[in-house]
Amino acid sequence: MPFSYVSHLYCPKCERTYGVDQIHQLCECGSPLLVAYDLESMRQEVKREALAEREPSLWRYHELLPVKHREHIVSLGEGMTPLVPMPRFGQKIGIPSLYMKDEGVIPTGTFKARGAAVGVSKAKELGVKQLAMPTNGNAGAAWSLYAARAGIQATVVMPVDAPEMTRKECAAAGAKLYLVDGLISDAGQIVAKAIREYGWYDASTLKEPYRIEGKKTMGLEIAEQFSWQLPDVILYPTGGGVGLIGIYKAIKELQALGWVSGHMPRLVAVQAEHCAPIVKAWSEKKRESAFWPNSSTVAFGINVPKALGDFLVLEAVYDTDGCAVAIGDEEILAEQRTVAELEGAFICPEGAAAFAAARKLRESGWIRGGETVVVLNTGTGLKYADLIHTAPLVLEPGDPFPKRES
Ligand SMILES: *Cc1c(COP(=O)(O)O)cnc(C)c1O
Ligand SMILES: [Zn+2]
Repeated sequence: MPFSYVSHLYCPKCERTYGVDQIHQLCECGSPLLVAYDLESMRQEVKREALAEREPSLWRYHELLPVKHREHIVSLGEGMTPLVPMPRFGQKIGIPSLYMKDEGVIPTGTFKARGAAVGVSKAKELGVKQLAMPTNGNAGAAWSLYAARAGIQATVVMPVDAPEMTRKECAAAGAKLYLVDGLISDAGQIVAKAIREYGWYDASTLKEPYRIEGKKTMGLEIAEQFSWQLPDVILYPTGGGVGLIGIYKAIKELQALGWVSGHMPRLVAVQAEHCAPIVKAWSEKKRESAFWPNSSTVAFGINVPKALGDFLVLEAVYDTDGCAVAIGDEEILAEQRTVAELEGAFICPEGAAAFAAARKLRESGWIRGGETVVVLNTGTGLKYADLIHTAPLVLEPGDPFPKRES
């Protein structure tokens, strides 16, 4: 039996196909390419029970991943993150069956490790020696670290405002790091020029087809962790949207394999109020988004004014009867604290936006009483330590303990 059932790349816009043994970036028509598998053969030959004995990492799904040979895998043990019940917060917002898929505990501290693990592994399999990418920080950190492990040289360009921790991760990994006084879209233009000049592998979001396959494993894991009974709603903080596209693709593949029962979950794209191109497009019933000018949010990972895969995100939302919701920065910061206080989870602001969206959608009745809901916490709050302000009393050695106020 093959290690991977990967068959080819295809264009979701013009339906051209490409091989998986040579480097391909975008389709000739400019669209991202997606990875296809021989699900028919896999359905005959692989049973989901085989997973039970495998290691708890995303590579347990190697048949549904694009790396053909085990020896090309570059791994730090990523994947199989916990699906944590959130009873107290859930009770408070009227969703007793609320779960957090916690990506805060994965190597590099965000789910970007999934895309990097699979993307870098496939790049290694294709013989890549140098790659470059624009990033809002977390992807650059993850790709720098996995590239280091693979012996690939990484060049990363990120906005000066990106979380400082991610800069340090890139530097520690020995990546060539540049800052741009602008947005990720500005970083993207600089990287595109450098790639034309130097011929590097373009690891920009959706400009190589394999990152999405890594992110897809969040969907595979959610299904397996629920014993293959799908939840009703999944909320996802959406920037480039790769995670959402990936979860949708994962569940469709599991359905084709006959491994899951129940309806396709309703997928919710959560954005920030001042960077909400997908929400705007969805509310106008459009199939593509427009560039969002002067975007800003504390949830840096979702500050993406125009996503290359916007049409795929919107398709996933429409096809699943999902929706798109925007959350303000103040609400994000308040929700981050509420989740920490009630559940002991120090989540990232992107994850907090998704929890706030769950609250809103329950209030409006869009999430119905008794539904099972999963919120993706895409990273650890530790990466954004500057967002939490504290003012504890400073005591002198020998001071008596101060009187308590209450
Ligand atoms: C990148 C990122 C996101 C957005 O992910 P996409 O798949 O690009 O939509 C959300 N949260 C965090 C912490 C991120 O780093
Ligand atoms: Zn095409």
